[in-house]
Amino acid sequence: MWFRVLVVFLGLGCSISSQAKSPEKKQVQMEVPPPPPKVIIVDAGHGGKDPGALVKKTREKDITLAIAKKVGVLAKKRLAAKVVFTRSSDRFISLEARNRIANQNSCDFFVSVHVNAATSKKPEGIEIYYLNNATDRAAEKLAARENAGAPKKMTDVQAILSGLIQNAATEDSAEAASYIQKGLQRRMSKKFGVKSVKVKTALFYVLVGTKCPSLLVETGFITNPREQRNLKKGAYQNALAESVVDGIATYFDNLDTPRSDL
Ligand SMILES: [Zn+2]
Repeated sequence: MWFRVLVVFLGLGCSISSQAKSPEKKQVQMEVPPPPPKVIIVDAGHGGKDPGALVKKTREKDITLAIAKKVGVLAKKRLAAKVVFTRSSDRFISLEARNRIANQNSCDFFVSVHVNAATSKKPEGIEIYYLNNATDRAAEKLAARENAGAPKKMTDVQAILSGLIQNAATEDSAEAASYIQKGLQRRMSKKFGVKSVKVKTALFYVLVGTKCPSLLVETGFITNPREQRNLKKGAYQNALAESVVDGIATYFDNLDTPRSDL
């Protein structure tokens, strides 16, 4: 008798436990779709009839295209991102069209690659810009040069900007800029003698209106002989691209991680 009861209980136990497990099994089998790939717009400054800054045979448009391609390849590889180039060859594309490409592709991040220039050989260093009022006179002059050909006057840009400054994208752009700055300082100072990597702000037309965090990187001074030599080197371009992609990756990682103050 006791034996029979025990057998019945054991049997019940088995059936209960197997019933309890089955919903769990179903849950495990349910597949959660992977998040869509991040869309990164990589913008090589200038192109075609617009060479950008020029020093003898060294043209800004060639350096920006070489670096942008490296950024795009790395972003695809490391972030499994969908990369959209505003141009992938030596062709002219307006600043407005660059904005349009970013927004039509629902950008998650926009990065524009440029090369700086000055009236003397001395100025040097890398500068990472996000959209806001100019940090200083040099930033203002630089933006005026990079904005050449923009269809709207700066007063209009300022009007648009006043609304945009409050936009969360500004804060996000600043955050991503600081990650990229740290990577560049680590990679570029020892190996390539880069003395300064600064985060600055200015009214760049190409950053106005993009509906995602956006940065413009001035990758060095074409007018500084040492930096001009560096800018043409594949190793310098690679290190630069790695720092940019690492910075964007850190920014995305932090976006996906719940913040402690929430
Ligand atoms: Zn430029």
